[in-house]
Amino acid sequence: MNKPTVTQEEIWQALQDVKDPEIPVVSIVEMGIVREVSLTDNGVLVKMTPTFSGCPALEVMKNDIIERIHQMGIQNVQVETVLDPPWTSDWITDEAREKLRQFGLAPPPKHGGNLVSVAFLDVAICPRCGSTNTVIKNTFGPTLCRTIWYCNDCQDAFEQFKPL
Ligand SMILES: [Zn+2]
Repeated sequence: MNKPTVTQEEIWQALQDVKDPEIPVVSIVEMGIVREVSLTDNGVLVKMTPTFSGCPALEVMKNDIIERIHQMGIQNVQVETVLDPPWTSDWITDEAREKLRQFGLAPPPKHGGNLVSVAFLDVAICPRCGSTNTVIKNTFGPTLCRTIWYCNDCQDAFEQFKPL
């Protein structure tokens, strides 16, 4: 067995190429999905926390991680799913929040674990014009992780990534 010659840092870099299957503009690293990368005696172990448990994209992400690390010449790749602590939208990096906004998806507000305060905020910032003159249209967007809002200034609908 050959101990891999790559560094953890190089693997983190490579995983930046693996995009979130639902939001192709951000990587799974930026989304805070990749929790840990470690080098084992004969390969690589990646620990990840899916944004939503039972998320159908989970298998896609796993396969993408394995394939990307295979490309680095490492054959033995293990991907472990960690559900505790559960993923929170606070783990999304600031850079990724900006990318979400450019993608037309209002990023979730940071809540520091206090989801009740977010629920009472009841406002989303329009990703197009930055207006807070917005109203929620429904709580079920095209996927469970998004809500649909309406901007009174743009007079158009937009989606917000739901804070979790
Ligand atoms: Zn607007």
